[in-house]
Amino acid sequence: MSQRQLEYDIVIVGSGAGGGTVAKELAPLAARGARIALLEWGGRFDPTRHHSRLELDMAQKYYFDWGGMQTKSKDLTLAFARAVGGSTNVYTGTSLRISQEVLDQWQIPGLTRQDLDPRFQKYERENNVHLSPEQELNDNNKLFRLGCERLGWEVTQFPVNTKNCVGLGTCNLGCAVGAKQGTARVQIPEAEKSGVEVIPWCRVDKVTTHSVEATIIPPLPGFDKGQYVPGPYRMMAKKIILAAGAIHSPLVLERSGFTSPALGRYLTCHPALILVGQHPQSITNVTGHPKSFYSEQFLAKQRFLLESCMYFPFTLAKNLAGYGADLDWLIKRFPQLQMILVLAIDEAEKHNRVLWGRGGKPVVEYRISQQTKRALVQGVRASAQLFFAAGAERVHAPGAGRFLVSRNEAPRLDSIVTEDQFLLGQISIAAAHLMGGCRMGTDPKTSVTDPWGRVHGHRHLYVADASLFPAAAEINPYLSIMAIADRVAQAVREDLGVNS
Ligand SMILES: Cc1cc2nc3c(=O)[nH]c(=O)nc-3n(C[C@H](O)[C@H](O)[C@H](O)COP(=O)(O)OP(=O)(O)OC[C@H]3O[C@@H](n4cnc5c(N)ncnc54)[C@H](O)[C@@H]3O)c2cc1C
Repeated sequence: MSQRQLEYDIVIVGSGAGGGTVAKELAPLAARGARIALLEWGGRFDPTRHHSRLELDMAQKYYFDWGGMQTKSKDLTLAFARAVGGSTNVYTGTSLRISQEVLDQWQIPGLTRQDLDPRFQKYERENNVHLSPEQELNDNNKLFRLGCERLGWEVTQFPVNTKNCVGLGTCNLGCAVGAKQGTARVQIPEAEKSGVEVIPWCRVDKVTTHSVEATIIPPLPGFDKGQYVPGPYRMMAKKIILAAGAIHSPLVLERSGFTSPALGRYLTCHPALILVGQHPQSITNVTGHPKSFYSEQFLAKQRFLLESCMYFPFTLAKNLAGYGADLDWLIKRFPQLQMILVLAIDEAEKHNRVLWGRGGKPVVEYRISQQTKRALVQGVRASAQLFFAAGAERVHAPGAGRFLVSRNEAPRLDSIVTEDQFLLGQISIAAAHLMGGCRMGTDPKTSVTDPWGRVHGHRHLYVADASLFPAAAEINPYLSIMAIADRVAQAVREDLGVNS
C-alpha cells in the first residue's frame, strides 16, 4: 500500500500523562494557526459506550497485553494502557508531588520543587485534586489507617483527582462514569477546542528528521472509524515530541536508528506486591475509591511504601503466590478481604532495559536486585503486621512457604517470612509505575535528552513522558510526569521563539 503524506508543524506521539499535557500546553499555538497532531496508537473510549465494567473485557481493550506483559525473566509483570489518554484512563488518580529529596538525587539542573510547584498547582486545579471526605472512605481503606494508627506508624491520606465519583471502584478498568480526571477527560478536550487534531488508532513506527512514519490501524469492534483510512502514513513536522511512555518512547527511537549509550536503559519501576488479609466479617472493599491512604514509615531505611488498594478477582488471583484449593478458598471470601500494595523503591540500573524483540514486540530485561527483594520481604512482614493490627485473622504472605499465615503466628513473622523462601519467578511481582529509558541529564553518555527533554544532538526532537525520569520517583508519578511534560512544552515554545 502506498504511503500517504500529511503536513503538520508539530506532531506529538502518545496521549497519556505526558502527551496529553504537551498537547494542551501547545494548543494556544494551534489557536494561532499552527497545525498540531496528537497521534495515539489506541482508541478513543466513551464511558457510556465502551465500559462494560467486566474485568477481562476492559483489561483486553485498555491495556497492552491485557495488562500482563512480562519481563524476559518472567518475574515481573508490567501494566500500561493503550488509548486516547494513555494510562491516565486506568490509573487510580492518586495525585502526589515528587519530593525535593528525590529531585536532589536526580541532579537535573533547574529541576527543583521551586520550578515544579506552580506547574503542580496548575494540574491539581485542572484535575480537581482533593481529599475525599470521611463518609466516602470504605472499610478496606479505613482498616489500613486503623492498622497504622494502632501500630503507631505514619499514615497519610491520598489526594485524588475525581469529580462526581459514584464509587464504582473500577478505576483500573477505566471509569464508566467519567469521574476520574485523566488527560482524555481534561487536557485533550481542551487542546482539541483550540484546534489540536487527535488521531486515534495511529501507531508510530519510526521518527526521522522532520517526519514521523506511522500506520493507521483498523479500530477495535464497537469503536468509531477515524477520518483516515488504515495504511501507512508519513507526517511531516518541524517539531516531534515523543510521549509514548517508558516502554515505547525508547523503542520508537531505537527502531528509528537513534543510538545513545543510555537509550532504552536505566528502565525502572516500583516493583510491587498485592497482599491480602482476611477479616472475620464482610467489609466494604469493591465500592468506593480503591486507594485512600499510604504510609512512608519504611521509606527512608527499608526502601518500601505501603498503600491501601483494591483489585478485582482476576487481577488479585494472578498476583497471589498460589493456586488451586488455597486460592479458591481465599477468593470465595473476597468480601472479607482487605488489601495492601507494597511498593519497593528500585535503583535505576544500566542493565535494566527495553529493546526490540522478534516480531516487533518489546522485550524488557529487568533484574530484581537483592536489595529490592529484601525490601519486598520486609514489606510483606510489615503488611502482615498491619493486617493483624486491623483485625485480620489470616494473611497471604509470600515468602512464608505456605499460602496463609494465621493470627497466632503474628509474633513470629520475622522467622516465618524469609528471603530464602521468597522465590523470584514463583511470586507475582507487578510494576505499574514505569520510568526511565530516555532519561534526561547533561551527559549524552548517561542520558538521552537534556534537562528540558530535547534529545541530545537532535534539535527537532523531544521526549515528554515517564521515560525521562533518571531514577524512580519514589511516589505515584503521574502528576510529576505532567509537571515535567509542562517543562518540555515550555522548551518547545522557547525553541520556536514564542512565549505562550
Ligand atoms: C493500573 C494503574 C494504576 C495507576 N495508578 C496511578 C495513580 O493512582 N497515581 C499515579 O500517579 N500514577 C498511577 N499510575 C501510573 C501512571 O498512570 C503512569 O505513570 C502515567 O500515565 C505514565 O504517563 P506516560 O505519558 O509516560 O505514559 P502513558 O500514560 O502510558 O501514555 C503513553 C501513550 O502512548 C501511546 N503509545 C505508545 N506507543 C505508541 C506509538 N508507537 N505510537 C502512538 N502511540 C503510542 C500509548 O498507547 C499510550 O496511550 C498507574 C498506572 C497503572 C497502569
